[in-house]
Amino acid sequence: MTGLQRAPHTLQPPSMPLPDGLSAVLDALPAGVAWLHELRVQYCNATFAGMLGHAVQDLLGLSSRAWHADDTLWAGVERRCAAALLAGQVFEEALTLQRQDGSALRCHARVRPLHAGRPEAGTVWLLTEASQPTDRSDALQQQVQALQEQVAQYAENAARARRQADIDELTNLPNRMLLARDAAQAIAQAQAGHKPLAVLYLDLDRFKYVNDSLGHRVGDQLLVALAQRLRSAVRERDLVARVGGDEFMLVLPDTDVHGAAHVADKLMVRTAPVYDIAQRELSITSSIGIAIYPQDGEDFDMLTQRADAAVHQAKRTGGSVYRFFTPAMQNEAVRALAMENALRRALERQQFSLAFQPMVDLRSGQVTGVEALLRWRHPELGNVSPAEFIPLAEACGLIGTLGEWALRNAAFQLKAWRDRGLPALTMAVNLSAMQLQQSELPALIDSVLHEAGLTPRDLELELTEGAAMQDPQRAIAVLQALHQRGVRVSIDDFGTGHSSLSYLKRLQADKLKIDQSFVRDIGVDADDRAIVAAIIHMASSLGLQTIAEGVETEAQLRFLRQQGCDEAQGYLFSRPLSAAQLEAFVRDLQQP
Ligand code: C2E
Ligand code: MG
Ligand code: MG
Repeated sequence: MTGLQRAPHTLQPPSMPLPDGLSAVLDALPAGVAWLHELRVQYCNATFAGMLGHAVQDLLGLSSRAWHADDTLWAGVERRCAAALLAGQVFEEALTLQRQDGSALRCHARVRPLHAGRPEAGTVWLLTEASQPTDRSDALQQQVQALQEQVAQYAENAARARRQADIDELTNLPNRMLLARDAAQAIAQAQAGHKPLAVLYLDLDRFKYVNDSLGHRVGDQLLVALAQRLRSAVRERDLVARVGGDEFMLVLPDTDVHGAAHVADKLMVRTAPVYDIAQRELSITSSIGIAIYPQDGEDFDMLTQRADAAVHQAKRTGGSVYRFFTPAMQNEAVRALAMENALRRALERQQFSLAFQPMVDLRSGQVTGVEALLRWRHPELGNVSPAEFIPLAEACGLIGTLGEWALRNAAFQLKAWRDRGLPALTMAVNLSAMQLQQSELPALIDSVLHEAGLTPRDLELELTEGAAMQDPQRAIAVLQALHQRGVRVSIDDFGTGHSSLSYLKRLQADKLKIDQSFVRDIGVDADDRAIVAAIIHMASSLGLQTIAEGVETEAQLRFLRQQGCDEAQGYLFSRPLSAAQLEAFVRDLQQP
């Protein structure tokens, strides 16, 4: 036979020998039976091999292409077969195949999926010689159909057995082998989506002591109970496996340093309460080592090794703690957790305040508005920068409450100034990307304005370019709702993102805030001068206002004026001020 294509690397002989009885029955059958996967023979009976003039062993792993003289015609057969199976039908056709010696074999083929509805999982082929009388072949078909079902059952059992070999018998968790396979897949997905992933290695502290003093049966029961607690502490898509006597591993997709620290904390808390086992109250602690993809390693082996190293570090410090592989990550996680706990209490403890920075009209020199900037003062942590706590508030779901607090307080402050006779100002409030995701945002703004007795024109919302780009469709919809109410929107830190002009138009923004990084170097960097000039001219041609932030020098101001920038904000005019200071600042300017 020509074109015998054997591909040893894809050769997959049946992973379990057929049970003796079944194998003998199939071999005695006067019809050829074969099981194919990805068009290669996984199993065939003696009759099948005999019809094609082969020995059974020679057919295993062979591509079905080899049975036909003409590759193109055979590709057509394969296509028709696949189409029939996908449509849920049995594929039946009279075929002329080619024996090993080159002679033609006229036969009738009948093909069914190994598993109903899943032809990709494999197919069962039945060949009968065309010369056989039809009535005999009908009886045969019935017989063979029964056998086909038996083969399918066998394949399913084999698959189940394979799965069971990957499951830890005691805890029913995956073992290290299965974890390695699933983790490789999770890492590939993390890589494709540019997402982090955490690998946690959990080792029980002094488990040997339980085993030695109370016996293995008690130890086993403890492991089972612990495994259940671990599994129920994490998300469905997280992987949990038992990888050694008292060692467990977790693989957490889409989890960074901060998230991993949280899970480690949670695992410690969840596994700590006493276990009622054999009329005893047992307690056990664990040590956890953490490695993060991609910083600590790019494949499962490396990440495992590093999480393992980290767990040893944890043990050395006495156990019952978690440790990151990298010291920098350890510090980051500790500070972030401390800060998060503090942040959760900061609102009720009234540690937040607002500072107000004037925005100055460059033609009239008047203060036209102020930007409200959040300030957090913690007794131990000191003054924490919003650049640090805002992202944290976003990560731990506090930004909604915090943002609402800032909005409401800013609105009421504006009303208070107005009642005290200060000239009309607009209040600019920063919005985080996450607030933009909240469908109730426009309604919230309505009610805050109403409560404070303000109109939409009194408020201006600042949104960073990045926030608007995260979910552009959603941003457009929300901004449209705000625009219809008459609330103005400015794009903050403009120039640091990648917004297109057409996108800016669709956002219906009113103002661009030129990012301070460009303003800073106006005096020294010709590129920055060109960028700032271009932003101002582009904005004006689109009918958008411009405001420059971070203006610190007269030279910067002069350049911005020359280019026709509308407004400016920065230390040159004033640092962010308390409410009382701002009031004094504005009144001073009013004096002739
Ligand atoms: P931003 O909205 O771009 O605010 C401007 C930042 O530049 C403020 O920093 C302000 O103090 C600072 N700044 C103003 N003039 C100058 C200057 O002349 N030179 C220099 N070097 N800096 C100047 P701050 O207050 O630390 O706020 C940082 C960021 O935190 C803000 O950037 C804003 O994105 C965010 N943020 C502040 N308050 C809130 C809030 O209530 N909600 C939300 N979502 N974000 C806020
Ligand atoms: Mg801002
Ligand atoms: Mg800004």
